[in-house]
Amino acid sequence: MSEVLIATKNPGKVREFEAFFAGRGIRVSSLLDLEEPQDVVEDGETFEDNAVKKAEAIGKAAGIPVIADDSGLEVDALNGAPGVYSARYAGNEKNDDANNAKLLRELKGVPQEKRTARFVCALAVYMPGNKSFVLRGTCEGLIAEDQKGEHGFGYDPLFYVPSKGRMMAELTREEKNTLSHRARALQLLEQKWEETVDKGGAL
Ligand code: IMP
Repeated sequence: MSEVLIATKNPGKVREFEAFFAGRGIRVSSLLDLEEPQDVVEDGETFEDNAVKKAEAIGKAAGIPVIADDSGLEVDALNGAPGVYSARYAGNEKNDDANNAKLLRELKGVPQEKRTARFVCALAVYMPGNKSFVLRGTCEGLIAEDQKGEHGFGYDPLFYVPSKGRMMAELTREEKNTLSHRARALQLLEQKWEETVDKGGAL
């Protein structure tokens, strides 16, 4: 593999993948480099379904290896909601404030010990001619009763990270990048890489 396309238009995510692949001599491009990137409808029932669907649709059209991710928040007291609907939990428009307000309403009266939750990142890897595979990175925490912190995005101001004693939105980007669900999924990819490619095999 000499190049890989990251199926995202998010420059922050592209940078994370560039950091991973640069040292391995692999050229990274993204949907930002394509003239007319294909729109893939994320209508799967799981993060894994959506990530694989995206990686394969774009990979088969481009004929090169593609990595796609799908992520979101799972809250135990809500049976895993908002889950694959995380981006549009409060309605069709992507609106972080409305999503956070809805999450607080849904959890009203739920005691702290039952407010367990996790961020999930499914990372799918498509290689032409091979079966795709998918890795799941998670980050465990608790949903707080009030928002706090200015960093990050999405549900970060409500997500308490026990190992840091702070909200995700209170962590610097560097701190978040050591423990986030996406960082964890990338660590799993690195592990798989070391066990296969570094030993002369295929991913
Ligand atoms: P995406 O798959 O990365 O586009 O994420 C889908 C949705 O999940 C986002 O719009 C957010 O609502 C939520 N989400 C995913 N990752 C994070 C995160 O790191 N912090 C907060 N919210 C997140």
